Amino acid sequence: MPDEKENEQRQKRVFKMQKCPLCDKKIRADSKFCSECGWDLTDHELTPPQIARIQEEIADARFRAMALHVVVVAFLTLALVCLLVSWFATFKVIPVTGHFITSINLSFSAFLFIEVALLFLEVRFQKKKDRLKRMLRDRQPSQ
Ligand SMILES: [Zn+2]
Repeated sequence: MPDEKENEQRQKRVFKMQKCPLCDKKIRADSKFCSECGWDLTDHELTPPQIARIQEEIADARFRAMALHVVVVAFLTLALVCLLVSWFATFKVIPVTGHFITSINLSFSAFLFIEVALLFLEVRFQKKKDRLKRMLRDRQPSQ
């Protein structure tokens, strides 16, 4: 049934998606406003309230990235401590049981796993901050 296929393709075109620059929510490419945060998606010079909103979002993203960075460093430290203890235990620098080595290795894996997730989040907020800064610079109202 070629008609049905054509219809489906047309639907796909209509429902092409884009990301809201402000809140990252996926929305239809032809939307004029974000359904999540109400951001005006039409390409025009920014209005003063929009500029204020972006600056707020930049401050928020910067704060979150910074807070995440602190936690990232903390978990990296924990992971490294586990690695060191595991190494000392394996080479019998400190006297421990095999059970202890297993649990310290498991902790190391867990910390490393959390570390990757946190790092991913931190980068996301960094990128958001940069993207918003770019938008602020590129769409500044002409004097
Ligand atoms: Zn939005």
